[in-house]
Amino acid sequence: MFGAIEAGGTKFVCAAGDEDGRVVERIQIPTTVPEETMPQVIDFLKKYPVKAIGIGSFGPIDVNKNSRNYGYITSTPKTAWRDFPFVQTMEKALQVPIGFTTDVNAAALGEVTHGAAKGLDSCLYMTVGTGIGAGAIVHGSLLQGLSHPEMGHILVRRHPEDAYQGNCPYHSDCLEGLAAGPAIEERWGAKASELAGKKEVWELEGYYLAQALMQYSFILSPKKIILGGGVMHQEQVLPSIYQNLKELIHDYVSLPELDSYIARPGLGDDAGIIGALILAQQAWRQK
Ligand code: ADP
Ligand code: ZN
Repeated sequence: MFGAIEAGGTKFVCAAGDEDGRVVERIQIPTTVPEETMPQVIDFLKKYPVKAIGIGSFGPIDVNKNSRNYGYITSTPKTAWRDFPFVQTMEKALQVPIGFTTDVNAAALGEVTHGAAKGLDSCLYMTVGTGIGAGAIVHGSLLQGLSHPEMGHILVRRHPEDAYQGNCPYHSDCLEGLAAGPAIEERWGAKASELAGKKEVWELEGYYLAQALMQYSFILSPKKIILGGGVMHQEQVLPSIYQNLKELIHDYVSLPELDSYIARPGLGDDAGIIGALILAQQAWRQK
């Protein structure tokens, strides 16, 4: 049996699962402060004979095994979680191998193993929700260099009619600052889910997301791109992405049909937690 944690900014999802990535039981715990959230996570996982645990976490996190702060959540705006030793806390409580990566990396791993990118050795998973982030599988493994990628904070060309200043605390008008859920809501002055009838909102969203996808596609050449997160629940975003991307690429390279190349998650909202189970299996095999 394996344990999995998908640590998000609003909630933690914890699961126990089997060797095939099947979830046996799961719970949700609100993300408050570590002293409150973590004991509940640990109590849940202690109910099962887990051999290893996989963690997909909001970040930034330190994933460099040679670093002094490996296993920590680092410079998050959530101050209670800043410099939280996530891996060490779990190791101490359960004494099993721990796999540690970003939430989007875990989702990419889930999708490439059991979801929309099954059977491929490369894919990109992007979430557009409270933040924007992406994880990539390259040659069958998670892409990691000095640290994990930060694909949500790239720069995009501003729409000439968009006067919104952007809300990324670090870069103001990076992609996340212009196109994540909170930016949509601040720009248009309404809850994103209530803006369904406003065509211009989702056309602008597609304008920004398509630029990002062109760059990911040109740099990484993934065999498939999977888009998840709350904003993608808005049906009009994907068609706007296709249209903008087609115009941007301008037949420079030939991509597969966009509606199969860029798809919704095969595992729905479970991509991250199933990915974390697979991460646990990998951690166990490595030990
Ligand atoms: P998280 O980022 O915490 O994992 P989500 O991916 O659900 O959670 O993202 C939440 C954000 O997505 C909210 O800030 C909201 O702006 C946006 N969102 C949620 N539901 C919808 C919807 N139906 N349509 C458009 N945007 C939505
Ligand atoms: Zn930024």
